[in-house]
Amino acid sequence: MRAVTVAPGTADSLELIEDYPEPAPEEGSILVESLAIGVCGTDHEIIAGEYGEAPPGERRLVLGHESLGRVLEDPTGTLQPGDLVAGIVRHPDPVPCPNCAAGEWDMCRNGRYTEHGIKALPGFARDRWRVQPPYAVPLDRALGQVGMLLEPTSIVAKAWDHIERIGQRSVWQPKTVLVTGAGPIGLLAALLAAQRGFSVHVLDLATSGPKPELVHALGATYHSVPVHELDFAPDVVLECTGAPTVVLEVMCKAAPNGIVCLAGVSSGGRTIDFDAGALNRSLVLENNVVFGSVNANRRHWELASDALRRADPLWLSALISRRVPVSSYADAYTSGPDDIKVVLEFAI
Ligand SMILES: [Zn+2]
Repeated sequence: MRAVTVAPGTADSLELIEDYPEPAPEEGSILVESLAIGVCGTDHEIIAGEYGEAPPGERRLVLGHESLGRVLEDPTGTLQPGDLVAGIVRHPDPVPCPNCAAGEWDMCRNGRYTEHGIKALPGFARDRWRVQPPYAVPLDRALGQVGMLLEPTSIVAKAWDHIERIGQRSVWQPKTVLVTGAGPIGLLAALLAAQRGFSVHVLDLATSGPKPELVHALGATYHSVPVHELDFAPDVVLECTGAPTVVLEVMCKAAPNGIVCLAGVSSGGRTIDFDAGALNRSLVLENNVVFGSVNANRRHWELASDALRRADPLWLSALISRRVPVSSYADAYTSGPDDIKVVLEFAI
């Protein structure tokens, strides 16, 4: 069968292997036919040789962590043949740490977790894969074209879960949400904000292309000005750019009792002149919270599945800029100027 692979640590080693072995039964009892894979920035970093780790004893890593598949067989009876399914990316560390032991592998303390298509587990960019029932998340049949959005949605479902838990520290009646960055994560964060009935604002540099229209379609307001020029103070911020200036500006912009969730990963190595004392003063005097959020556990995947089921399928489809067949796999990993989410299709 076909598999899209890289040699981790070696730049531009992307290669389609035509005779990759069938998934071993030890991978899981549920056999899945791959329909499509979403491509994201992590894949680009792995292809650039900056990130990624092959399974123990292997030289190559199968890519793909944003999965959508169709069940071929499940002897456990958990799922039926034909059911749509996505595979959870992260597996708990072998120790396990207290969080992994409780199923909170997204909060792993020792960093020894594994991740499909990223860290020591083969990814889903192959014709067939296997999964254990606890790591298989069923999807509504209506999501047959867009179910690969479940993984990025799980990331924002976790962010919202933690925002709401932090909010419970006091009487909390948020009204205004600011999302910075209108990539897939930012747009899905805005979708979940709109589903909660908040007044949603999305800020991005782009002034043309599909982003403004996608934001308007959520009933949200689109801004392409610097954060400090916004004329409101958001109760909740989801920072999805990782751009250092934006990160600092949203911390200063939040309303009293505001919660700022940092979900963008910065590359680092760039310094900017900044008054840390003024930021501290503002955070303390306004009871603000700034926290980071990454990955998701099974509960978040299920929340994400529910959020996608309730979303407008046409809006979700519009997030997918290009659908590339496996025969042209390299095109899926080459970014275009108006790309939001690029999808590699196996069998849709
Ligand atoms: Zn752990």
